[in-house]
Amino acid sequence: MREVILIKTGEIALKGLNRGSFEDILVKNIRWRLKPFGKFEIQRAQSAITLQPLSDDIDLDEVCEAVGKIFGIAAYSRALVTEKDFETIRRDAVVYLESAMEDIRTFKVEAKRSDKRFPYTSPEISAELGGDLLQAYPHLKVDVRHPDMTVMVEIRDYAAYIHGPQIEGAGGLPVSSSGQAMLLISGGIDSPVAGYMMSRRGLKLSAIHFVSPPYTSDRALDKVETLLKILTGYTGNITFYCVPFTKIQEALRDHCPEELFTIIMRRLMMEIAVHIAERENIPALITGESLGQVASQTLLSLAATDAVADRPVFRPLIGMDKKDIIKTAREIGTFETSILPYEDCCTVFTPKRPKTRPTLQYVEESQALFDFGPLVQEAIRDIEEKIIRLEW
Ligand code: ATP
Ligand code: MG
Repeated sequence: MREVILIKTGEIALKGLNRGSFEDILVKNIRWRLKPFGKFEIQRAQSAITLQPLSDDIDLDEVCEAVGKIFGIAAYSRALVTEKDFETIRRDAVVYLESAMEDIRTFKVEAKRSDKRFPYTSPEISAELGGDLLQAYPHLKVDVRHPDMTVMVEIRDYAAYIHGPQIEGAGGLPVSSSGQAMLLISGGIDSPVAGYMMSRRGLKLSAIHFVSPPYTSDRALDKVETLLKILTGYTGNITFYCVPFTKIQEALRDHCPEELFTIIMRRLMMEIAVHIAERENIPALITGESLGQVASQTLLSLAATDAVADRPVFRPLIGMDKKDIIKTAREIGTFETSILPYEDCCTVFTPKRPKTRPTLQYVEESQALFDFGPLVQEAIRDIEEKIIRLEW
């Protein structure tokens, strides 16, 4: 008996004439993700993709776990493939479903026949196979309204597929189908979630993190690396730029009004991120900001930060409550790492009374009290040597 993973693409299926190119990217991503598990034959047919393992030692549970994190997949299931011969379907389905039937009491069979030449109608398929299952597993009853399990039979162009419930996939669009963006990542809860959300909309991620040794420790940097490593399970490879920020922060402390520390710091981070993005041809930035969450994320503060960016800054958390952000952080597995207590460069030199409604003019004048240009240039010099490549 041959078992495959049957994948449904969801949103991509609505892409009209562009659908093919989205599917190409998805299949490429799948191929590349599954490489460590062994060889597969990957087939596309009728808004589904089938993955057939080409050797017996491939652990399909592990493969399913990886598939569950690939963006662009709406749902997936393990499925039995048979010839489109009704006797074979009935015989093999009964054997294939044995372990799934053990723990349930009620079921129904749902048939879908996209190949209309198949000589039995969907209701006929359901009724016949339902009867076979009742006979083989006498503890079962049919319940068409609230079954413990729905057995699906799909008669497609090239083969028939039998499977239990579909598992919800990661959704969204395949990574890279929307282009690339650079995530400003801190060690906090929010920015990893922001990266996850934008990658889910098809963006390939790069990441940038600012460190201020000796005020921040190596462990704080390790934490960010761990967070990015978790993200790569969804996003694929991430090029990570780690930028020294100590001198800039010290200059800021020594020359600018304390109430604007955070806001000017954020502008300088943004400016450096823009420089690197420009060099690397990355057309957008991503931050984990959420309106009103802290002083540096009020409307006017965000406007002051935006003013130094020459490209779109995506802030997918902008309208989310902290509790919803935390919920996502738990779901994607970053929360436990994010709450480890190592200091971030934002937590050194924090103003006691940060200004919450800074006008752009006041911010610009205050920042102009010191010429940060040379320090910004110094921070991005030899940046190639500060790149860490994180792979899935
Ligand atoms: P987070 O949980 O992402 O740290 P936060 O609510 O703590 O967010 P801030 O610390 O004010 O917010 O940071 C706002 C945003 O600025 C972050 O979401 C992140 O995008 C960016 N940022 C903050 N600190 C750094 C840093 N050290 N390196 C790179 N980006 C940073
Ligand atoms: Mg933070």
